[in-house]
Amino acid sequence: MRDTFDGPAGPPSEAADSAHAGAAASPARERATPASRSEREAAPTANGFPADARTGGAGVLSEEVWGRAVELVRQADEIALACHVSPDGDALGSMLAMARILTGMGKRVVASFGDRQFGVPGLLHFLPFQELLSSPADFPAAPELMITFDSSTLERLGLLAASAGQAREVIVIDHHPSNTGFGTISLIDPGVAATAVLTEELIYRLGGSLSKDVATCLYVGLVTDTGSFRHSSTTPEAHEMAARLVATGLRPDVLARELWDRSPFGYLAVLSAALGRAVLEREGLGMVWTYITRGDRAAQGLPYSEVEGVIDVVRRTDEAEVTVVLKEDDEGAWQVSTRSKGAVDVAKICSALGGGGHAGAAGFTSHEPVDVTMARFRDVLRMS
Ligand code: 5GP
Ligand code: MN
Repeated sequence: MRDTFDGPAGPPSEAADSAHAGAAASPARERATPASRSEREAAPTANGFPADARTGGAGVLSEEVWGRAVELVRQADEIALACHVSPDGDALGSMLAMARILTGMGKRVVASFGDRQFGVPGLLHFLPFQELLSSPADFPAAPELMITFDSSTLERLGLLAASAGQAREVIVIDHHPSNTGFGTISLIDPGVAATAVLTEELIYRLGGSLSKDVATCLYVGLVTDTGSFRHSSTTPEAHEMAARLVATGLRPDVLARELWDRSPFGYLAVLSAALGRAVLEREGLGMVWTYITRGDRAAQGLPYSEVEGVIDVVRRTDEAEVTVVLKEDDEGAWQVSTRSKGAVDVAKICSALGGGGHAGAAGFTSHEPVDVTMARFRDVLRMS
């Protein structure tokens, strides 16, 4: 560990420089980073970007599949983009970055997500390129080429699932292990930290460059899905990607405050109510759970998206391996968020209950009351 810290801060040496190439802590490195980026940007095809340096995954995606995706995008005049419903930073950030790159290539772009009540979640209002979004009502019924972002199933596209079913070609960009492979081309790599990682790769392969605003969209995807570089998905490649993005001049401090460190005053009351009714069940590996009703939110005028972060407080609980937070949405359905610390695969449990996600973070939707939903969850958990 000491070496890692001393390298960039200590006196420059050949060894330190080569070991930390790409980090931007010294003038020498500041020069090196843009040079290597522009070399990449100048490369006419994928071959300029070594796959392992770009994706950080197990290299599961072949040159052939990347090549077909690039070819389809190059040939299309109009491209329809969709991400999963109630989009998070990775889904929306990835889609908006790609929307901007494609309009820059002269494509007609329609970008949307299939929520019945269409609107960008409040937490993500600062994202650039929202003028490129349209309502799901304006989405083509049978696009020639559709690209989906961060959506593990057709159903997660909500109102836009039908368009994906009717599209001639569907490029699926995703990193969920549970992805059902519903497209005609799968840019799916469960080994990468975020859909934004694969989106960055596609941007490079299309010859696009990273403006500060495009980098901001991708950075938001990367930091949300790695939990600010805290989750197990935080690989050296994830940090290398962050270094490339931060080198465009974006402000990690400003983005972090937007994403995690601000909320209306009323949030404190809702958080307090949720924490006050949290239950610790000690049997087995331990589970902590709580819920937030739409009434809790209405009393404080809070939209649904404002309570997404509650689980990050609840899951601190030392005595619990598994955390569950049930959030009632505006339509009265319960959006159930689950987390584990590694011993339990919550994606398996949530899949059994009609949802999905990652081993450590997954979810499902329930139309039953809280006690019934929790009884079901407990049953599946016990069998796992
Ligand atoms: P969150 O709890 O932050 O909303 O979601 C955690 C993870 O579970 C994310 O990867 C998200 O895509 C996934 N997830 C959440 N809800 C659902 C759901 O209803 N269905 C599926 N398939 N995945 C979900
Ligand atoms: Mn994601």
